[in-house]
Formats: sequence, structure tokens, C-alpha cells
Amino acid sequence: MRALRLTAWGEPPAPAEVERPVPRGAEVLVRVEATGLCHSDLHVMAAAAGALPYRLPFTLGHEVAGRIAALGPGTDGVRAGDRVVLYGPWGCGTCDRCDAGRDNYCDRRDTLAWHGAGLGRDGGMAEYVLVPSARHLVPIDDLPADQAAPLSDAGLTSYHAVAGLRHALGKGSTTAVIGVGGLGHLAVQILRATTGSRVLAVDVREDALALADRSGADFGTLVRADTARVLKARTGGAGVDAVLDFVGTTQTLELAVGVLRPGGELAVVGSGGGRLAVSKPGVLPPGFRLSLPFWGTRPELAEVVALARSGAIHVETEHFPLSAAPEAIARLRRGRVRGRAVLVPD
Ligand code: NAD
Ligand code: ZN
Ligand code: ZN
Repeated sequence: MRALRLTAWGEPPAPAEVERPVPRGAEVLVRVEATGLCHSDLHVMAAAAGALPYRLPFTLGHEVAGRIAALGPGTDGVRAGDRVVLYGPWGCGTCDRCDAGRDNYCDRRDTLAWHGAGLGRDGGMAEYVLVPSARHLVPIDDLPADQAAPLSDAGLTSYHAVAGLRHALGKGSTTAVIGVGGLGHLAVQILRATTGSRVLAVDVREDALALADRSGADFGTLVRADTARVLKARTGGAGVDAVLDFVGTTQTLELAVGVLRPGGELAVVGSGGGRLAVSKPGVLPPGFRLSLPFWGTRPELAEVVALARSGAIHVETEHFPLSAAPEAIARLRRGRVRGRAVLVPD
């Protein structure tokens, strides 16, 4: 079968012909219908040797939806033909966290050579993907695959980040979303659908602000020297209750703490490698709390799928055949993708 494999650090992934896997034990083979391309894939491709614990080569693709093609003899609870989305952050499978479907915070994460499907283990940029256990599958029934696949990371990670701040997002609150791409446009919709918060969107691209507007944001602004002042003015001068930073550079972290209200919440989701100096006394807002959410839990993925099936969230997608992955990657790198790029096996 065709697969897009990362074979050397710092080099673009290469299309390859690999054996179609055969499921053994509790494994499940899924025929891929769609796979989202995430900005994290670009970070992985650009990583220096040794920066990530993954062993090469492996097949990329951590946002995957498809149909169960074959089952190992020890599988439980799923049937061939079921349509599913993959819960991607595979943990050790035996600790308390994994037991509770919280593989994203697996107690042994530091010892694993992978972060999940397509991140150190073979993922879904291929015709088939081998899943270690049926517990990593969430049913999607008739949800279109291009909608379902991005839910497993862009949707789930945004949902998990919002869930962590829910106590601060009641009626009358204001949240700033920095970076309205694949994750950010779903975060705006999830904020609108599940919290009482007003949403202010920030990006460096006009078309991302248009996407924020279509996603339900109350206000959008480009990053400029006075963005903090512009955002604060939208809260009567007090500052925002929460910031979701989907970029994570020093520039956006500084913007975030510059607009937060005292006691505000900052969730850094973007892996932009920026730094924020913590010192007390200092200039950081008093009482502010920082979190570094990673992906989400399996129960949350089921909740995100339910939200999408109810029509409360919609992924804006651009489709590419798997064979055109290099073009999709180049477009994402140049900031030319609207919403999420989705790869479909040719
Ligand atoms: P994306 O490329 O689809 O979207 C990023 C958006 O940020 C774009 O609209 C871009 O124009 C905007 N942007 C870039 N620089 C900006 C700046 N300085 N100020 C404001 N906006 C800016 O990316 P994505 O797939 O949505 O991923 C976003 C980030 O989240 C990436 O760093 C990715 O690696 C990370 N991520 C983290 C997790 C996690 O679990 N923590 C999960 C998935 C993705
Ligand atoms: Zn991702
Ligand atoms: Zn574990």
C-alpha cells in the first residue's frame, strides 16, 4: 500500500510502498478514508535529530477517520465495517491514566518512543492504519470522513483546552483566540457552542480573520504593535478572562499576558517554541494561571464527535489526494490553507 513516511530528520517525508499490516491479538486494521494535516506535522518534519523520541522511519498522519477492515483474534467491542475516528495519543496502555482513556497524560509518556499514531508510530497518511487496540476507536456512523478526521486532534485538542478553562468562561467573560487555523477555527466554534464567553480572534492573515468571523467570533484583529490595546478596549479596559494561544511564539505569549485580566487563564496550545519569563514581583498579571494542554481524552473525543453530529461545529476543509501531500504541506507552511487540509487516499 502507499504511505507517506518520514525517513530522515530535517527532510521532507517520502511516498513509499509498504506491506499492508495484518492485525494480530487486540489490533484493528482501519481502511483510511481521510487524514488531516496538522501544523504539528510540520514541526515534526523540521525537528532536528534527537529532538523527538521517535524512531525512523514511520508513516505520518495523526488525524484519521476510516472504516474497520479487519480485526485481530483478541479484539473486543467493534465490528468489521464500522466507521471510526482514531483516538491518536496512544499511551503505555496499562497505567491508571491510560485505563481512564487519558492516554494524553499517560504516566509513562516520558519513557515512550512515540506520542501516538503518526507521531513515532505508523499513522494514517496511508491506505490502511494498524491500531493497537479497539479502545482507540470512536464510532462516527455516517459523519463524513473529512469532518471526522480533524476532530481527533484539531477538534479534540481545542475541546480539551476549552474544558480546562471552563470555570473562567461563564456568561459575560471574554476569551482571546490567537491563531485561527486548523485548531483555532474549531476552538472559536467550541467556545461559542459550549461556553458563555465572547470570542476575540487574532491572526496575522486577513483570511484567517474571515474564517474566525464565519466560525462565530465576535471580533477579529490582525497582529500589530497595538493589538493588546485594541483587545483590551473590547473589554472596557479590564482585559480578557482567558487566552487560547494556538501559536506559542514569544510574540504571542507576550501578547497573551499583555491582554489578560488579573486572575486570568492562559492555555498555550501552539508549539511555537516561545519563552515567557516568570518572576515575582514582575510584570505578569497577578493571579494569572498558565496551562500547557496536550491533545485530549478519549471520552472528550466522543463528546466532540457528538457536537459535530449535532451540527454545532463544522470543520472547514481543503481536500488533497494523498499523492498531492507535498503540495498540501507546502501550502500549510506558507499559511495558505483555509481551516484544515485533509488528505484522501487516491
Ligand atoms: P495552522 O497552521 O492551521 O494555524 C496556525 C494559525 O496561526 C494560522 O492561521 C496562522 O496565520 C496563525 N499565526 C501564525 N503566526 C501568528 C502570530 N504571530 N500571531 C497570530 N497568529 C499567527 O496550525 P494548527 O494545525 O492549527 O496548529 C496550531 C499549533 O498548535 C501548532 O503549533 C501545532 O503544532 C500545535 N498543536 C498543539 C497540540 C497540543 O496538543 N498542544 C495539538 C495540535 C497542534
Ligand atoms: Zn496535530
Ligand atoms: Zn499509560
